[in-house]
Amino acid sequence: MSRLTTPAIVLRTVDYGDADRVVTLFTLEAGKLSALARGARKSVKRFGAGLGLFGVGEALLHDKPNAELAGLERFDGARGFPALMSDVAKVAHGGYACEVVRELIPPRQPEPVIFELLVTFFATLEAAPVRAETLRIFELRLLDALGLRPQIDACVGCGTVELGGPGDVLDVRRGGVVCPNCHGHGRALSDDVRRALVEAQTLGLADAPAFTLSHATNAGCREVLSTIILDHVGRPLKSLEFIAKLNHVQP
Ligand SMILES: [Zn+2]
Repeated sequence: MSRLTTPAIVLRTVDYGDADRVVTLFTLEAGKLSALARGARKSVKRFGAGLGLFGVGEALLHDKPNAELAGLERFDGARGFPALMSDVAKVAHGGYACEVVRELIPPRQPEPVIFELLVTFFATLEAAPVRAETLRIFELRLLDALGLRPQIDACVGCGTVELGGPGDVLDVRRGGVVCPNCHGHGRALSDDVRRALVEAQTLGLADAPAFTLSHATNAGCREVLSTIILDHVGRPLKSLEFIAKLNHVQP
């Protein structure tokens, strides 16, 4: 049994029994793990207000290597995101980021680049209005960090960069765009969407405010990225359905 103090992000909390809470933590040093926080709903002293979604702080864990649940002894929230927490569209985008990260990172494996990306994404949501372009850059950076970067600038079959015709398709299983000569399977990929993704692949979250897509191009990019992400997750994401509903109400 070992004790570990590590920076951590709260990815999910589920109430358990009368007073406890099971939390999914993304820790900097031990990666994703689930932990039982005994008395979490009663002890403000040990868990404070930080032990909720978007909580970023320092976790003190009691861990057994093969136990399904670690024990969370304390969580000291270091950073709050009040503007993020009080805006439904920001909560939707932040919740989606948490869900995708939770689904795609392997358990118990440190992922420092993704840890930093997620905290930076929360900070971006905190500081500025919600923008779809920011989410697209987040998705692309996440896929990169996971080793799932789609190849969009050249055909994955023959390597040609002579793309842009009507026959290009996104072939998720082959990892990117396939030209008409290479017979891909998947949805058609329009050239403006493809070019926007190529550009977005060069950007970081700090570049997001200056990156602007038309409504139609963003919708195409969103389709491409959610197709890739859902293929890896293997099931629908609740948070994505929530964003779709929200967009329907607030076009
Ligand atoms: Zn080809």
